[in-house]
Amino acid sequence: MSTIVRFAPSPTGRIHIGNARAALLNWLFALKTGGQFILRYDDTDVARSTQEFADGIAADVAWLGIKPARVEWQSKRFARYDAVAADLKARGFLYACYETADELDRRRKRQQARGLPPVYDRASLKLSPGEIAAFVAEGRKPHWRFKLAQKPVEWNDLIRGAVHIDTATLSDPVLIREDGTYLYTLPSVIDDIDFDVTHVIRGEDHVVNTAVQIEITEAIGGKVPAYAHYSLLNGADGKGLSKRLGSLSIQQFREDGLEAMAVVSMASLLGTSDSIHPCTDYSELVESFDLGKLSRAPARFDEAELKLINAKLLHMLPWGAVKDRLAYGDEAFWLAVRGNIEKLADAKAWHGIVAGDMKGEVAEADAAFIAAARAALPPAPWDGSTWKAWTEAVKAATGRKGKELFMPLRRALTGLDHGPELAALLPLIGREKALARLG
Ligand code: GLU
Repeated sequence: MSTIVRFAPSPTGRIHIGNARAALLNWLFALKTGGQFILRYDDTDVARSTQEFADGIAADVAWLGIKPARVEWQSKRFARYDAVAADLKARGFLYACYETADELDRRRKRQQARGLPPVYDRASLKLSPGEIAAFVAEGRKPHWRFKLAQKPVEWNDLIRGAVHIDTATLSDPVLIREDGTYLYTLPSVIDDIDFDVTHVIRGEDHVVNTAVQIEITEAIGGKVPAYAHYSLLNGADGKGLSKRLGSLSIQQFREDGLEAMAVVSMASLLGTSDSIHPCTDYSELVESFDLGKLSRAPARFDEAELKLINAKLLHMLPWGAVKDRLAYGDEAFWLAVRGNIEKLADAKAWHGIVAGDMKGEVAEADAAFIAAARAALPPAPWDGSTWKAWTEAVKAATGRKGKELFMPLRRALTGLDHGPELAALLPLIGREKALARLG
């Protein structure tokens, strides 16, 4: 059986780290099983969904390296949803309800006051034709609820193991609002059936939905997919991420100059039994991917850790992985500086230091020492051994050693007291510039 999975964002905003995790777990599953990944826009909320957000999400998904085999839009499928809804109504699975939001609210409060669970009491099912006619005459339009079987629903969750939910404990869910628009539940089930989705991999906030959706799938006569619900993300403070999600958007990470593979590595490995570490491409992630490695405990997302993973990733990236994105430098330059940057853009400052015209910093007390060092500069051509030969000569000439010897040279050559190995930088700076900086 070939697998089909879907990532189903609503284009009512851009995707954040939590959505990226949903996308990546599905994408890795598809890659691992040789299956198909569908990008499905859950845009039944026509008023809040925009083309701009959808385009933005497509760009975010592409930036993450995900290549959907197929893109679907729920807003293009209303005729299909209407047909299924009509059939469910005809067979008594969808029933009309006439309560206003206020009435429902009051009823819930009364139930709570009496210590009863706030489950919808199916009062609308008991209305007489006369009562219904009176509501209609009053101008009320019905919303439509799905009549749950009120029985235990069980599935073998690929992350959580055996799950049992008794739908007798749930309110019959509203699937169609009184203005005729669909809530997410029914279109999602119809799409999963029509697109032959084999595995639904999504957050644990959907566990209860799953019990409902399994019943709806069965009512429609569709094949129930396998389900896997992963735990949600908390922030470094252990609290939910919801309030800060804007700042954790994929767009923001990209604009901040983070590497896509750093975000991919982190989002893919969070909450698994594998350590969070940078992966330079997908191959290792696919190799080690296993839904069974996902923990049931909330995963912790720490932005500081993402920055660290980003730096570690850069430190190991080969020149080939960055050369198209750097408009300067060469392989020797990249290998010299990559260990000293946190973001790719940081390489630019090092390029300025290597290739630019700058005057080094020489303290008055070091002036004679620097003059002696200048005189001891070896002749060109320079290579990786020049630094050692030079500093040994300077040591012999001046008697300085250790920090006393190296720090004034570093400051004079780079203007800084930290940075990449001077053995690597010196040949990049070259004899002519070194002479000028030491002079
Ligand atoms: N649009 C839904 C969400 O973002 C999709 C959930 C699902 O995967 O079924 O929560």
